[in-house]
Amino acid sequence: MAFFYRTSLAACLMAAACTISSQAATVSSGAFQTAEVGPGVSSLSPGDTYSEYQWGLENDGSLQLVEIRRRFTNGGSAYDSPTDGPHSGLPIPAGPGDYEVLTTNATPGVDINIAPAWELYDASQTNRDVVVAVIDTGVDILHPDLRESIWTNDDEIPGDGIDNDGNGYTDDYFGWDFFYNDASVFSMGSDEDTHGTHVAGTIAAGRNNGGVAGITGSQHVKIMVLKALGTSQGMGSPEDVIAAIRYAEANGASICNLSFCSNALSQELADTIQNSNMLFVVAAGNGDENGVGLDIDSSPTYPASLPFDNVITVSNLMFDGSLDSSSNYGAVSADIAAPGTYIVSTIPGGYGFLSGTSMAAPMVTGAAALLYSYRTDFSLTDVRNAILGSARQMDTLTGKVSSGGMLDVGAALQWTKQAV
Ligand code: CA
Ligand code: CA
Repeated sequence: MAFFYRTSLAACLMAAACTISSQAATVSSGAFQTAEVGPGVSSLSPGDTYSEYQWGLENDGSLQLVEIRRRFTNGGSAYDSPTDGPHSGLPIPAGPGDYEVLTTNATPGVDINIAPAWELYDASQTNRDVVVAVIDTGVDILHPDLRESIWTNDDEIPGDGIDNDGNGYTDDYFGWDFFYNDASVFSMGSDEDTHGTHVAGTIAAGRNNGGVAGITGSQHVKIMVLKALGTSQGMGSPEDVIAAIRYAEANGASICNLSFCSNALSQELADTIQNSNMLFVVAAGNGDENGVGLDIDSSPTYPASLPFDNVITVSNLMFDGSLDSSSNYGAVSADIAAPGTYIVSTIPGGYGFLSGTSMAAPMVTGAAALLYSYRTDFSLTDVRNAILGSARQMDTLTGKVSSGGMLDVGAALQWTKQAV
């Protein structure tokens, strides 16, 4: 059996100290602890400087994003911070004398250009409703920044023990948990649903109500929570993912976020994706066992390397405009890059940072949903063409992703549909 792993590298809660669970794309490593990985903000808003940076609300060149890498030098050999990859077996330095700080500055303009997109979107009276399936770990559906954004199955009565709509799933009002095979899509009090909660927030966290702002907001775009990855390692099986895809399709989802990957190809999963009428946005994966990004044209990972025209594969762009060193890429198999390093979003009960192609994919998923909602003249094929065709060209991405560029939501919404 092939197992999938979620594709974030590291998580940090908003508290100053936190437990980190590192997860490379294809390698399971143990949990370890570190003191800090993010800017350590204790309250967040769309006006927060880090949020402004990530969302492109302000491009005045004044933002200097945090140092995030600490190259440990104790023991004679240098290696990156455990927050940069799976280094769980290496000793954590005791103090500042044990490492040198490497600073990576943000580059103005390396953002998704959301402000003009929101301006267009908010002025439109014709935005359509769109359901986005998040097949991932569970999602904190009670999070104040997410609860207005969660899809509900209105043909189902929750909690009565009856499959009211006769779809084979009892009490599937908030979606379904395929991993544990029950109606609970959020395991409160455990940390296993952090990943999916973070993904959901990037796509659709509410706007203008404090906290973070998701790309689509909650008005027209809803997240269908389909839990197919479980345990603290974020593992799952192709069978559960296939069942979740079928559920998503049968219940009205049009766009599907898949922030996980596996080295093993499941032909049935490939066929299910190819034959689906949904658009799939897929994480490219986070490199090899040392956290070094791979060319997935020659070293395929799945579903990222599937060559279907209803799949967009997303690489992780650093805030300095280079591909993150851990991000997979591929001139054919990867399609576009989006910010994925130190992304702030919702986590169960709060906000936190996660890094990886898992965080880059939902940037594109949110953009696709916003575009599909706004451009009622667009098919999902048009959405894919517009996302890739409007990508902002960057020298650092030439030969690395098929579009040669990074996500530009503002440009995507203004895309002129090409004559066939
Ligand atoms: Ca049902
Ligand atoms: Ca019921």
